[in-house]
Amino acid sequence: MSAIMLRSRPGGPALRSIGLLSGRLNSARVPFAARFPATRSLNTVPRRTLPPHASRLASHVPIAIRFKSDVAGEAARSKPSRLVRVISKTFSYCGVLFAGATIWVVAFFIYDASTYREAPTNEDIPVSELALNPRHGGPKNLPIADFLVGDYDSESMLEQKDKPRLVILGTGWGSIALLKNLNPGDYHITVVSPTNYFLFTPMLPSATVGTLGLRSLVEPVRRIIERVNGHFLKAEATDVDFSEKLVEVSQVDKDGKKRNFYLPYDKLVVGVGCVTNPHGVKGLDHCHFLKTIDDARNIKNQVLNNMELACLPTTSDDERRRLLSFVVCGGGPTGVEFAAELFDLLNEDLLHSFPRIIRNEISVHIIQSRTHILNTYDEALSRYAEGRFARDGVEVLTGARVKEVTNDSVRFSQLEDGKEVIKEIPTGFCLWSTGVSRAKICETLSNRLEGQNNKHALETDAHLRIIGAPLGDVYAIGDCSTVQNNVAENIIRFLRTIAWEKGRDPEKVHLTFSEWRDVANRVKKRFPQASNHLRRVDRLFEQYDKDHSGTLDYEELSELLHQIDTKLTSLPATAQRANQQGVYLGRKLTKIASALPGLRANEIDYGDLDEAVYRAFKYKHLGSLAYISNAAIFDFGGLSFSGGVVAMYLWRSIYFAESVSFRTRCMLAMDWAKRALFGRGMVTLLEGNILSLLKTQI
Ligand SMILES: Cc1cc2nc3c(=O)[nH]c(=O)nc-3n(C[C@H](O)[C@H](O)[C@H](O)COP(=O)(O)OP(=O)(O)OC[C@H]3O[C@@H](n4cnc5c(N)ncnc54)[C@H](O)[C@@H]3O)c2cc1C
Repeated sequence: MSAIMLRSRPGGPALRSIGLLSGRLNSARVPFAARFPATRSLNTVPRRTLPPHASRLASHVPIAIRFKSDVAGEAARSKPSRLVRVISKTFSYCGVLFAGATIWVVAFFIYDASTYREAPTNEDIPVSELALNPRHGGPKNLPIADFLVGDYDSESMLEQKDKPRLVILGTGWGSIALLKNLNPGDYHITVVSPTNYFLFTPMLPSATVGTLGLRSLVEPVRRIIERVNGHFLKAEATDVDFSEKLVEVSQVDKDGKKRNFYLPYDKLVVGVGCVTNPHGVKGLDHCHFLKTIDDARNIKNQVLNNMELACLPTTSDDERRRLLSFVVCGGGPTGVEFAAELFDLLNEDLLHSFPRIIRNEISVHIIQSRTHILNTYDEALSRYAEGRFARDGVEVLTGARVKEVTNDSVRFSQLEDGKEVIKEIPTGFCLWSTGVSRAKICETLSNRLEGQNNKHALETDAHLRIIGAPLGDVYAIGDCSTVQNNVAENIIRFLRTIAWEKGRDPEKVHLTFSEWRDVANRVKKRFPQASNHLRRVDRLFEQYDKDHSGTLDYEELSELLHQIDTKLTSLPATAQRANQQGVYLGRKLTKIASALPGLRANEIDYGDLDEAVYRAFKYKHLGSLAYISNAAIFDFGGLSFSGGVVAMYLWRSIYFAESVSFRTRCMLAMDWAKRALFGRGMVTLLEGNILSLLKTQI
């Protein structure tokens, strides 16, 4: 009773109440204050004593004390059953989820509604007269685009109107990496390309069979250019006039006529990529290529079409086998990845929707000229890939060279017991993926410039400046370029100049060890790619000082440098290299832009600005990877490994992280989820057909 009273006293802290109660209970033996000093000291509120009658009552009347366990027991008895609790919890969680989802949906619709514009803007748009009616001039008296229609579109565009003109040709890996590393406002930027999107090529084979949607691999280039307030012209560059600093650009009008004009530049970057190498083989018009998004769409349509034709009652057995025979010419990463994706499609998706006989008659063949497929990878990895294909029934024909492709077969030669045997595979589909060669514009520029000796790409120095073009005006990046390796020739020329300046005959120069070390340091700075071969300058000195004279004479030095030359390999034609070059050039051009005002103020317009403001380009190989039918291989230089589905997820996550934007990442994730849930889907294939049909009708 007293306990109930005490508990219900308003404002009385529990500790104090219990203290009082305990004090009464134990007052006969030990004073409470002595037993719980700490409890008391915690009470800052002055203690209220019970009235005398109550304290008497408390010492004589037995008190009904309720223990905690009793209370709990009662509470437990009155609690709802476990099942009821689970159900009520489930309902409350579902309620919260439902409320959350509703809020998201409503928020989405509000956002979506805000993205529509009802009223058109009717404001006056300032445009330069010269942008609408350009002056004519240049060697061919063509219109010159000194001004562009978007030059007055915003305050920031207006501000950069008179900045140095940077023209970038191409919207591939190199150009996009460059654009992403430029500062807005440093240059007046114009990008020229026949494609108005960036294509994420490493995943292109997956798009040929619908594992990924075509839109997931492309990013509109205007969205990327927006950041630097740049301009985009959907056209093709055909030539460059280096003396007047004009790029000749060509676009096709509605009547199919070519219209050319000039685009002036202060700095020009050529990043036009390359084209498929035909290797002089006849009949390539019967082949598919895999370089663009249209190629991927056409391949997808052809594969499905062949499958449909194979099911018709009018198709003979031989014809069915031919239609279902898929040939891939080229055992490099692109050919191998395409063969793997094709096998996945045939094995995992189409067989569920097509008659079962189709499975037995499908065949996939890879024709490779070298002894192994993926011959640029570690040998163990190419063996793994070959083993995987052997398991899946994909035929790998090594040491084979394609002679001719016709509309229904591929003819090739193959070495058998040292003898060349001519063979033929009937086929309904042939992919040509056997390496790359230079684009038309690169050939034109190469022929025009002195010092261009490479038949496959534009040669640049280590600062990525095109050799033969005015110094510091024109750069080339990515697949269309190659960094000149002739270390020996350059250094010998350099030594000759120094020798002549000192009035000595270069052929009679003798370098002491310290002079040789200086030369080696210069070589490393000028040709970073040679650094790996110049680590132990002392050993090289010892090795090439053949007469043990303690000096390197002209002959010995030439031999040493030529040896280094032969060890330098040309850079690979990969997205990795193009991206590194784009990043490098972006950073360098930013540095140059910040140095320009100072140079102008001091009226300095000569000298090697590139070398003064930035180091030479050095390629860093980060490794190679490839997908092979629900497995993947990784070659990171010394470390290489391969594996099944887990490796495939790793392969996917690397490219997922590399993807160009948040939008493409979301779409990639959705595509992979869609494949797992609904298969690769023919809808996309039909969509492709409709698109091509529309194209032909237009
Ligand atoms: C199917 C496939 C898979 C690949 N997989 C990988 C991989 O896994 N890893 C890897 O590192 N590399 C891969 N590559 C190679 C990689 O795509 C290229 O090395 C890379 O695209 C080169 O970049 P780039 O900027 O030099 O040229 P590209 O990316 O080819 O871009 C060239 C651009 O120039 C434009 N252009 C062409 N001609 C002109 C002109 N006359 N005027 C103006 N613009 C022009 C084109 O429209 C395009 O926008 C793959 C390539 C393919 C085709």
